[in-house]
Amino acid sequence: SAKREGKNNFQIFDETLALGTEKRLNILTLLRADKSNSQYALYYQPICHIENKRVVGFEALVRFYDDNGCLIFPDEFIPILEETGMIIDVGRWVINECCCQLAQWQADGCFPQDGYIAFNVSAKELLQAGFLQGIKDCCQTHGVNPRHLVMEITESVIIDKPEKVKLILNDVREFGIKLALDDFGTGYSSLSYLQNYPFDILKIDKSFIDDLSENSKDTKITKAIVALASSMDLKVSAEGVETTFAYETIKSLGADIFQGYLVSKPIDASKAEQLLGESSVSQTDKK
Ligand code: C2E
Ligand code: MG
Ligand code: MG
Ligand code: MG
Repeated sequence: SAKREGKNNFQIFDETLALGTEKRLNILTLLRADKSNSQYALYYQPICHIENKRVVGFEALVRFYDDNGCLIFPDEFIPILEETGMIIDVGRWVINECCCQLAQWQADGCFPQDGYIAFNVSAKELLQAGFLQGIKDCCQTHGVNPRHLVMEITESVIIDKPEKVKLILNDVREFGIKLALDDFGTGYSSLSYLQNYPFDILKIDKSFIDDLSENSKDTKITKAIVALASSMDLKVSAEGVETTFAYETIKSLGADIFQGYLVSKPIDASKAEQLLGESSVSQTDKK
């Protein structure tokens, strides 16, 4: 090992690095071995209306089960999928799964009328030839109306090829899929993106929501973002709402929708279905 080869500081650094690399390599090996994407699962986090907390949709979040059934989270494997290009295949699986699930929930009659499933895409997926056609085919296969889908991208997806990405987003929006700008506030926070790209929803990053307190800098920024987005007819979504205080604050600032552990963590499809059942029961109760 590197340890035996020398005793200088570089070796210590090397070892830490190697640990990270070894873990990555292990994950990569697991991902590669799953030829049919059978170890991936989508979890669904409820997105709720700010006024009545009713479920308006779900964000689909991918997970990977290792051979022992242990859950691996996307922050650990999405970067690997992106670097290796495997994200293209997995991304297709994700979108197909979203459409399949949506169709089933709609057929069961438990899905909100204007409800949606939001899915995340990275730059490589978006920029691949035939990306939109693939989604169209999925919608066709499962009989899904694209207005029940939201595509989430971060600003980093735009930055390298802003013009090309704009054309693709325009086509996606034209097809009827709504667009959300994810993690807003963490990256370039370019106001021109809001103006020149066809976004419907702006998702304020969790880091702002975490630091809301009376008169804090983040509260002021959040207030300004909400005002700006509303003036552009964008819906404002708050991510990572964990406390009643955060909920009340973003409500008073004018956010439209929110998601976070306060209501629910991402849950598997059967739990999500249960939740939908409960809320449609309580809806009929009120009539
Ligand atoms: P994201 O799209 O910003 O998703 C929100 C993340 O915040 C999720 O983490 C969610 O579980 C977490 N979260 C939501 N509410 C709370 C809260 O109240 N407290 C805390 N502490 N966390 C909360 P997750 O599922 O680990 O996903 C991480 C990221 O991985 C996502 O960030 C997204 O960028 C990426 N990702 C997930 N699924 C996919 C996918 O299918 N395709 C691609 N390309 N990326 C994905
Ligand atoms: Mg997202
Ligand atoms: Mg986000
Ligand atoms: Mg994120």
